[in-house]
Amino acid sequence: MGAPVLMIPGPIELSPRVLEAAATAPPSHLAPSFVEAYGRSLERMRHVWRAADDSQPMVVAGGGTLAMEMAAWNLLDPGDRVLVVSTGYFSERMAEMLRRAGADVHEIVALPGESPSPHAIGAALSDAHAAGQPFRAVFATHVDTSTGVRVDARAIAAHAREYGALMVFDAVCATGGERLDMAAWGADVVLTASQKALGGPPGLALLVASPDALEARARLRRLPPLALDWHAWTPIWRAYEERRPAYFSTPATSLVLALDAALDEIVSPSAVDAPADRAMATRFAQHERTADAFRAAWAALGLSLVPARPELAANTLSAIRYPEGVDARLVGAIGQRGVVVAGGLHPAIRDQYFRVGHMGHVISREPDLLRTVRAVGEALGELGHEAPVEEAAAAFLDRYAAP
Ligand SMILES: *Cc1c(COP(=O)(O)O)cnc(C)c1O
Repeated sequence: MGAPVLMIPGPIELSPRVLEAAATAPPSHLAPSFVEAYGRSLERMRHVWRAADDSQPMVVAGGGTLAMEMAAWNLLDPGDRVLVVSTGYFSERMAEMLRRAGADVHEIVALPGESPSPHAIGAALSDAHAAGQPFRAVFATHVDTSTGVRVDARAIAAHAREYGALMVFDAVCATGGERLDMAAWGADVVLTASQKALGGPPGLALLVASPDALEARARLRRLPPLALDWHAWTPIWRAYEERRPAYFSTPATSLVLALDAALDEIVSPSAVDAPADRAMATRFAQHERTADAFRAAWAALGLSLVPARPELAANTLSAIRYPEGVDARLVGAIGQRGVVVAGGLHPAIRDQYFRVGHMGHVISREPDLLRTVRAVGEALGELGHEAPVEEAAAAFLDRYAAP
């Protein structure tokens, strides 16, 4: 059967180059080659995020959760009013972190599979503004990995900007796979982790902060915990960008080498001398095409999605409802066919669906993608839901191979 293929929404399959970089013996954080890799990675983040030249890229050892915590503590004072756009499990985690950081948290909550409309978010911001109690910040999850719902990030950011609120996106399951135009959209913090659509191993928290976000930190009355404090870290990131080593806390040197390789694969596509912007456009288009092909396959198998409408369905993963008569045993039956997928995560519907990640390097591996479609189809059959496996594979290929 060969090695199983990892099709969960992170960690994901690594490319051979990223794997090789990750397996390097950890270099000194002062080694010239490491200084170069770290500095280059920070520079390239601006490119992948499409962030302004005066934005600050940030990399620390940790996960997406740590990146979320950093945003909460560096932007807000106790009592600041924040609006959390809740599309699922990770939005709720953000709300809890903000409460613990002392913020006055207001939520606009969608049913599982739905997103609050940008119009409703604009109305909440407008009402608060009119009442003389404006929101200091809006927090939204670009793709909520628990539902596979992608919010309309551009429209939400436009409303936040209109009412003078900082805009923060938890883009852990999006950055590198979903369209993002940080500067043009006016987002202030876009954060992610290394093990999702960026294509690295787990272990790094990554953020890009706008000048307004840095200004918010500068104006805080309460200092963040030192290990989370952007002021402790920023001189380090700036030094590495200038190709000088610096120390506050030891960087995860092997992971940074892997990140450097992963970012290099994103910004330098195989098409020689394609400009880097074109590289991002190509990357997003590949994720869209792959997701579209999977959706065609799921439809052919008689499956429906958790996202309530096609425009809400993320391109980085599929959240798929179990059909009548099938339950969470499906995940194990798929696993027995050499494909690792994930169960449900949203507490309200946990037992009703499963999740298939399709981001990063694996989306270029057609045999693994077809194996995934067939594994799902055959496992459904084993559990009594007869499904046309070869039709689903053909539906997949039809969209995947489309020009
Ligand atoms: C995975 C994920 C997180 C948490 O990241 P960890 O690295 O597991 O801490 C947060 N938000 C979203 C949207 C995620 O997909």
